[in-house]
Amino acid sequence: MKIPLFSKKQETAEDPVCHMQVDTSNPGGGTAEHGGKTYYFCGPGCRVAFEKEPSAYLSGEKSVEM
Ligand SMILES: [Zn+2]
Repeated sequence: MKIPLFSKKQETAEDPVCHMQVDTSNPGGGTAEHGGKTYYFCGPGCRVAFEKEPSAYLSGEKSVEM
C-alpha cells in the first residue's frame, strides 16, 4: 500500500501484548522482529514480555490487561 508523502494519516500497528494501537513512526516501546515480521510496542515492558514468549502472545494464549 502506498501512502502519499503529504498524507497526515498516522500509521498504526497493534501491540501484540496489550493490543493497543501504536504509532509505527514512533513506537514508545520500540520494535521487535519475529518470524520475519516487525512488531511495535507501546512501552518497553510489552517488548520485553513479547521477546520472552513471542509465540504465546501471537497465539493469544497470553495477553496483558492495561
Ligand atoms: Zn503494550
